[in-house]
Amino acid sequence: MSGKYETVIGVEIHVELGTKTKLFCSCRTDFDADVNTQTCPVCLGMPGILPVLNAKAVEYGIKAALAMNCRICEHSIFERKNYFYPDLPKGYQISQYRQPLSENGYVEINSNGDRKRIGVTRVHLEDDAAKNIHTGEIDESLTSYVDFNRSGVPLIEIVSEPDMRSVEEMKSYCETVKSILEYTGVSDCDMEKGQMRIEANISVRRADDPETTTDRSEIKNLNSVRYAMRAVEYEVERHTKALESGKTLLMETRLFDVNKGVTRAMRSKEEAHDYRYFPEPDLVPVEPDRDWIEEIRRNLPELPNARRQRFMDEYELPEHDATLLVSDKKLADYYESCVKSYSNPKTVSNWVLNELLALLSNARQNIDECKITPEHFAGMMKLVDDGTISGKIAKTVYEEMFNTAKMADVVVKEKGLLQITDEAEIAAIVEQVMAENPGPVQDYRDGKKKAMGFLIGQVMKATKGKANPQLVNKIFGEKL
Ligand SMILES: [Zn+2]
Repeated sequence: MSGKYETVIGVEIHVELGTKTKLFCSCRTDFDADVNTQTCPVCLGMPGILPVLNAKAVEYGIKAALAMNCRICEHSIFERKNYFYPDLPKGYQISQYRQPLSENGYVEINSNGDRKRIGVTRVHLEDDAAKNIHTGEIDESLTSYVDFNRSGVPLIEIVSEPDMRSVEEMKSYCETVKSILEYTGVSDCDMEKGQMRIEANISVRRADDPETTTDRSEIKNLNSVRYAMRAVEYEVERHTKALESGKTLLMETRLFDVNKGVTRAMRSKEEAHDYRYFPEPDLVPVEPDRDWIEEIRRNLPELPNARRQRFMDEYELPEHDATLLVSDKKLADYYESCVKSYSNPKTVSNWVLNELLALLSNARQNIDECKITPEHFAGMMKLVDDGTISGKIAKTVYEEMFNTAKMADVVVKEKGLLQITDEAEIAAIVEQVMAENPGPVQDYRDGKKKAMGFLIGQVMKATKGKANPQLVNKIFGEKL
């Protein structure tokens, strides 16, 4: 977008907390359970029920809020947010509105290589709705079902300030929040399982006159960061066009159609008063003990930013490597165990970021499924360091270890990958290559040094990459 306009994006993220039981009853929250097997009168919204607050959910909420630098409020209350929908049997959601669990935080994101703070307005607790399951496409579906297993699962809602100025900043924000929550262990944030859901608010204004702005629209139910980016890109364009042509946009809630790549109006944007919020009479205020909060703060794990800095200081990694490694907690953990087994941090980083990530991606595997243990990796590097195999062959060995979980020395033996370090053997191959390629040999002797690369390549080809490169160089130097 040209410098004439400025995009204003705010994000609300709902995250299911990884507690064993629900927010107000003791039903389990197992994701894979059969439909409607984890329910009770409380989460089915029967008349006369009494909710009982899950202390673990409060602890996780506080933990998440502290990790995002929020102030934990001394006194917060639950309120009923009233609306009707088939997935909400009570007729209201129990949420926090006027007095949330926490407020005034921030997270630091990467914006074009710089660090930028995005304000976190609040992190509050609420219960999840049940899940509607439609047969076929939602607008043509003749039958809908409701699975109440999800009804009452604890959520935190993380509301950002409208501080993001581009789709890339929004992406970085969502990924940073996800990573922070994964580090704290309060949620797996598995977006495919709906454990993290994104909503974005967008408006566009004139850069020189912020008062000239479109009314914001809100896009609901974005189930992946990629969809969120596509949806917001579409909206930014729609808003920019409206601003250019002086057209007024309605303040509204929109849905993103993944197949068509467009957003469409769902309903006019509801205001808070539409929900008739009032304090939940069956729950007492949440007044967490200061000592308890401090204990949770003390026990916070090292968070991604701190870990990135430590990787740069302790392992002397470039910022690029450190950033990539810490973005995924499990990847960073794996990296550190490899460094414990083989203490050359930059070499380990190269293997993990170049070879391993590509192999995992091709195999559609996660890092916790990786068959190469840190010990196996160290075993392979020992073979490289003592000259048993070349660096090039190591890539073949690594891939074989990845596929079979075998030790490097076993792979080398089985595949006959031992490096050729016998000078006489290499010399014979060098002579043969020179005899077969008189042109390049003459080129080299005429001063075209680049011809050497071709000749070395031919030796490597003839030995399937097993010739010791230093020896090949040395022998060519002698013979040419
Ligand atoms: Zn229940």
